[in-house]
Amino acid sequence: MMRTFDYQRVFTVEDALAALRHPESAFIAGGTELVNWLKEGIESPARLIDITGLPLDGITVEDGVLRIGALARMSDVAAHPVVADRFPVLAQSLLRAASPQLRNMATIGGNLMQRTRCPYFRADYALPCNKRVPGSGCAAHTGDTGSAAIFGWIPECVATQPSDLAVALAALDATVVVHGADGAREIRATEFHRLPDPDPAAHNELRPGELITSVEVPDGLDARRSHYLKVRERVSYEFAVVSAAAAVCLDGTLITEARLALGGVAHRPWRLWAAEEALAGLDIHDESALRAAVEWSFGDARPLPDNEYKVVLAQRAAVRALQEAAA
Ligand SMILES: Cc1cc2nc3c(=O)[nH]c(=O)nc-3n(C[C@H](O)[C@H](O)[C@H](O)COP(=O)(O)OP(=O)(O)OC[C@H]3O[C@@H](n4cnc5c(N)ncnc54)[C@H](O)[C@@H]3O)c2cc1C
Repeated sequence: MMRTFDYQRVFTVEDALAALRHPESAFIAGGTELVNWLKEGIESPARLIDITGLPLDGITVEDGVLRIGALARMSDVAAHPVVADRFPVLAQSLLRAASPQLRNMATIGGNLMQRTRCPYFRADYALPCNKRVPGSGCAAHTGDTGSAAIFGWIPECVATQPSDLAVALAALDATVVVHGADGAREIRATEFHRLPDPDPAAHNELRPGELITSVEVPDGLDARRSHYLKVRERVSYEFAVVSAAAAVCLDGTLITEARLALGGVAHRPWRLWAAEEALAGLDIHDESALRAAVEWSFGDARPLPDNEYKVVLAQRAAVRALQEAAA
């Protein structure tokens, strides 16, 4: 059945926020996710608010902070000389996502707002999925768990978060800046996506009526020594099975500080806090010590029947990402 909707284009943040107060409204940016949701029946807004005319596509470095406007296109951000030179993990996470055509349309804000690729959430026919129909159950938990989470899941939802960029932002301690009726607020990139407990239907911390306006990344020394490693079933145009974002500071060959985040393993980018502590002082060439340090973060891994392989794969990806970042 064809569903009609109204369409409105806005050119200021104030107008965007006012338009969103209209019942059943949704922002549309590049449309590469939202249009799929309309076709699949995941969303059916009565009004689309086109935000591509907002002046939010700038990329600047000022006072030690890289600011990327929420409307900047993925391909423009990846190609920006400052991002490519000083934040390689960001450029790599973007270039390894989707296809060139999608990256030319898709925006940074839209990328963070994408929803899980869990096959039960995206199924063409109705399957129990608490994210798609709250309260309906989780067919994935007792079904094919090959792509499911190994950290932070509950029986009501075992889905993973698919944005590559989000993993890189989490490793760099970035913040997501949002605007709403009460003004601006900042959300840490490590906390922007929500774990399923207590509400498996929720995807992220954005409140109704809010707009993402930018992401901010500290321009630290370790951002230069950074790397994004994406393991996927084919070399391009595929979501991560597992991914790792690493940033390191070195004194000679000794690690003084390391930051590590994993993708494809949880509802949110998964920071390896315990591993980061254990890595300080290690020699970057001592691979067995790096492996042992990374394992510190896997004490609370809970693989499901079909995804035990993710534990080993994620550990190896984290070690390799560290080595590549330092190289
Ligand atoms: C075939 C395919 C393969 C893909 N592969 C990958 C991949 O490998 N890695 C990866 O990371 N991504 C991948 N993606 C996802 C892709 O990156 C996203 O579709 C894209 O980034 C979404 O951006 P958009 O501007 O098109 O968002 P839209 O589709 O316009 O919007 C998506 C959602 O975000 C909301 N939104 C958009 N902008 C804002 C804002 N500023 N503030 C608040 N809400 C906002 C919209 O209301 C909507 O809910 C893939 C997508 C497809 C279709």
